[in-house]
Amino acid sequence: MKNGKTAFITGATRGIGKEIAVKLAKEGYDVAINYRTMNEEVEKLKTEIEQNFDIKCALVQGDVSKFEDAEKMVKEVIETLGKIDVLVNNAGITKDGLLMRMAKEDFESVIDINLVGTFNVTRNVIPLMIKQKSGRVINISSVVGVAGNAGQTNYSASKAGIIGFTKSLAREVASRNILVNAVAPGFIATDMTSVLNDSQKENISTQIPLKRMGEAQDVANLVKFLASEEASYITGQVIHVDGGMIM
Ligand code: NDP
Repeated sequence: MKNGKTAFITGATRGIGKEIAVKLAKEGYDVAINYRTMNEEVEKLKTEIEQNFDIKCALVQGDVSKFEDAEKMVKEVIETLGKIDVLVNNAGITKDGLLMRMAKEDFESVIDINLVGTFNVTRNVIPLMIKQKSGRVINISSVVGVAGNAGQTNYSASKAGIIGFTKSLAREVASRNILVNAVAPGFIATDMTSVLNDSQKENISTQIPLKRMGEAQDVANLVKFLASEEASYITGQVIHVDGGMIM
């Protein structure tokens, strides 16, 4: 059943973003799903969501690393859903490699999508949230943004940047009843981690106190909570969902 609220999730065609979109739709939010390239899967997801839950689902095309795309997408969400109560900055990529061999483009593209992309979308949403005197911004960071990881200087810089961005923005907009938090997942089974071979996965699992990788649903459950009324006294936090990797 509709709960009267709307959520805009970036990079929501697969993996964690898709799971968040489905979870929030199940909670009764009208959802706007951002995709980069239209394909059968994207259309199928919209149909599935609208058939399973009594809510509206909008598809918005755009590359978060482009400010004009972010501006256009936010306008489209407002035109179709009327408002944005919850923004989830989820879109992200990796381009791993040791610093010694990393091309400048591989450093920049990861920063541009993960960190600048978060700025681009949030910059266009915050004025609307200020006007409506409420809002939630949930940024997807990473365990790697807190602890670092060899081979991921670009990715961990982007994810650590998201943490600084989250805390500063939380301070700027708290008086406007806008809550801003970051979620820091550990190793979650999605396309992003499917590139790891079995022995790498096994090695990672030994470093996780719960001895297994997480599921996209584990992250979606936390996002659902942070978007809810029950989380109305939480802002500026980095909440870990990583099987105990960071304590
Ligand atoms: P996936 O690779 O499975 O999905 C990434 C999503 O982001 C896709 O929908 C992709 O769209 C979208 N995306 C990428 N670049 C852009 C862009 N420029 N504009 C719009 N959308 C874009 O990743 P996950 O689901 O695993 O990751 C989701 C988020 O969680 C990321 O921010 C990631 O860094 C973070 N995270 C993931 C962890 C994990 O272990 N999986 C751990 C910690 C954090 P398209 O299909 O068009 O490529």
